[in-house]
Amino acid sequence: MQIRCQLCGAEEELLVWSAAYEARKRAPQAPYICARCRDRVQAEALREQHPRGH
Ligand SMILES: [Zn+2]
Repeated sequence: MQIRCQLCGAEEELLVWSAAYEARKRAPQAPYICARCRDRVQAEALREQHPRGH
């Protein structure tokens, strides 16, 4: 199953036995964000919480 990242638009193959695929089945309308973007968003959130820690 191909899925497109909502942030960068990259297409990824979602493996049917992966946890991400299971989550997809439960919430098919939820926006998908790839691991790379998820890391970036998380890093930015941390930076905002600790603006002087960078
Ligand atoms: Zn992405």
